[in-house]
Amino acid sequence: MFEYAPAPESRSIVSIASTYGLFIDGDFSDGKGTFKTINPASEEVLAEVAMAAPEDVDRAVAAARRAFGPWSALPGAERAKYLFRIARIIQERSRELAVLESLDNGKPIKESRDVDLPLVAAHFFYYAGWADKLRYAGFGTDPKPLGVAGQVIPWNFPLLMLAWKIAPALAAGNTVVLKPAETTPLSALFFADVCRQADLPPGVVNIITGAGDTGRYLVEHPDVDKVAFTGSTEVGRQIARSVAGTGKRLTLELGGKAANIVFDDAPIDQAVEGIVNGIFFNQGHVCCAGSRLLVQESIADELLDSLKRRMATLRVGDPLDKNTDIGAINSAAQLAKITELSEIGSSEGAERWSPPCSLPDHGFWFAPTIFTGVTQAHRIAREEIFGPVLSVLTFRTPEEAIEKANNTPYGLSAGIWTDKGSRILAVADKLRAGVVWANTFNKFDPTSPFGGYKESGYGREGGRHGLEAYLA
Ligand code: NAD
Repeated sequence: MFEYAPAPESRSIVSIASTYGLFIDGDFSDGKGTFKTINPASEEVLAEVAMAAPEDVDRAVAAARRAFGPWSALPGAERAKYLFRIARIIQERSRELAVLESLDNGKPIKESRDVDLPLVAAHFFYYAGWADKLRYAGFGTDPKPLGVAGQVIPWNFPLLMLAWKIAPALAAGNTVVLKPAETTPLSALFFADVCRQADLPPGVVNIITGAGDTGRYLVEHPDVDKVAFTGSTEVGRQIARSVAGTGKRLTLELGGKAANIVFDDAPIDQAVEGIVNGIFFNQGHVCCAGSRLLVQESIADELLDSLKRRMATLRVGDPLDKNTDIGAINSAAQLAKITELSEIGSSEGAERWSPPCSLPDHGFWFAPTIFTGVTQAHRIAREEIFGPVLSVLTFRTPEEAIEKANNTPYGLSAGIWTDKGSRILAVADKLRAGVVWANTFNKFDPTSPFGGYKESGYGREGGRHGLEAYLA
């Protein structure tokens, strides 16, 4: 299904077929209809993808159920071999996967190539290493897999979110049915091809494509034992309600509105890099994005001057150009949401600034933007924008910084910039955030648990905790 065109004149090394089926029981098959997935940088149609009907979800869950017995009965070391093989194939095919991810998602190729793909492979390697070590690792004397996992993921890191979900599930002996987001289905289907190449037994991994209704049908399916969802808080709430009382295990990774706190003794240049990375990495389509900058009042002017100079150097444009820093917004709907919240920011009195930059004529684009003079009363200080838009607030004392940082319904991540180790520890201790970075931001590692407090969800993915979420 995926063909690899060597054509040197082509900028893409991936030749994308015109239609893609559902991956069920080790084979591709048609759905009820199809939907289009487009390149958000050009608005061109990339492919038609099968739309899973309820009976297709039933087929996928039944295939996962059949595969569960033999898969969970395999010695851990045997399951590990498949995961190691998948990890190596991902490494071998990482250039194709990176291009595909950037085409379907809009993210800069230097990010999909240097961040997403290495992390995807790292997750499979890491969890492969766990598969034969479950019995004596503190999960109880005889830890058991849960059964069939129904997994639903968003569009911002399509393949990485897949890896976060599938690698620990399989290592623990579960089988999965995964639904990627409707705007970014292609890398998950490519991954299905990777599973075939790795000779993974049919039914262990099933990929069904479709919209929210397909996801809802999957998570409500009576033969699904474990639900893992990453996406918006609104949908997460609906899922929590539908799963309540069913006995299914549930993990939710939801939205965020992280504070990046810069104290007056922070190294300014380093902090500016961290702020830029925190909010403009992946166009700000990051659940843990540092979307609120809290800067100590005494250095606010100096820091903002420096930040603006740095923002003026950011290159917005073609995601496949390796010099691009900010790619395309993933969809027209997401662009409309970012635009609307930014307009609300201006109308509520915050001061908007973007560097001069010319945006392409086609596709979905948004210039890197900061709002100064933001207060807690502004919606842009409270609501997740999920785009390249930074809200800047100031503080005078560490207590005020902590109070403002925690003044949000979310609690996923935070950043602290200071020269004092003691201050890092003292402030981190008081932040209600699942992840706190110190003098860095957006650093991910398969060995570290990740997850939120409050409306950012519950349960952890990554590390040993991520495995525990798939064990009884
Ligand atoms: P979304 O909730 O609209 O969609 C996420 C997925 O859920 C998609 O696959 C969608 O088709 C599916 N879906 C929609 N309605 C559903 C329903 N009723 N039942 C089951 N599935 C359903 O979110 P999105 O716009 O794709 O993603 C952006 C959101 O995801 C942001 O809020 C972001 O913060 C969050 N996110 C969180 C994390 C994290 O780890 N905490 C990571 C990435 C993204």
